[in-house]
Amino acid sequence: MAKLEINNVSKTYNANKPNSVEAVRDVSCELDEGEFFSVIGPTGCGKSTLMKMVAGLIEPTEGEITLDGESITGPREDIGVVFQEDSTFPWRSTLENVEFGLEMRGVGKQERRDRAHDILELVGLSGFEDNYPSELSGGMRQRVAIARTLALNPDLMLMDEPFGALDEQTRLILGGELLRICQETNQTTMFITHSITEAAFLSDRVFVMSARPGEIKELVEVDIERP
Ligand code: ADP
Ligand code: ADP
Repeated sequence: MAKLEINNVSKTYNANKPNSVEAVRDVSCELDEGEFFSVIGPTGCGKSTLMKMVAGLIEPTEGEITLDGESITGPREDIGVVFQEDSTFPWRSTLENVEFGLEMRGVGKQERRDRAHDILELVGLSGFEDNYPSELSGGMRQRVAIARTLALNPDLMLMDEPFGALDEQTRLILGGELLRICQETNQTTMFITHSITEAAFLSDRVFVMSARPGEIKELVEVDIERP
């Protein structure tokens, strides 16, 4: 079960100060289990702010965000996050990167190894277990970051422009693979992008944010015939 509800959420940075910024105004939306949900809008419209609130990394100024009815008040183990920046550990091999979170949770060596191998196969990195991030392409490093998050089996996966640093062709390839993986694993996913192509191609639904907080808030149903 993983149902996310965002209820009338606003965020003002530096509230009540001269340099206050209203980043998000009165956003409400819901994600159902297994849904691939994109948030789209131009740079500065508040997408990352929204995602950080869902991740429990910052607090809304107003409103509430709940996962399965429980208020999100801080970072949680059942919410996985993938950022745009390469977040792999350079001193760890691919396998060790994917095992890291499992190790932190006290999962035993053999189980962690088996799980990491399975996930690496899922993201197309079999054969690269022993390579270090510096030996991989940018696209492959993002696969490692995605694998590391998926290995923890999160109820909700948040992705903030995960392919933003990659070239167009690699974005399309990885996007297609991500969609397949999320469908296969029924992974509830909130995907942030400024690319209309990416949003339309990948999503069950798209939430459009306007450049000016509160101006446009529309849920667009995208119904694409998938092969
Ligand atoms: P997006 O992800 O859509 O580019 P952001 O959520 O990063 O948008 O930013 C929304 C607005 O909030 C922007 O005007 C940005 O400058 C501002 N902002 C983001 N983070 C902070 C912060 N930590 N302090 C002050 N203002 C911020
Ligand atoms: P991806 O499509 O995985 O993002 P890129 O398009 O960046 O990869 O790189 C092109 C191809 O080069 C990759 O799909 C991969 O097969 C190969 N490649 C990249 N880095 C390595 C490496 N360290 N060893 C072997 N092959 C590699």
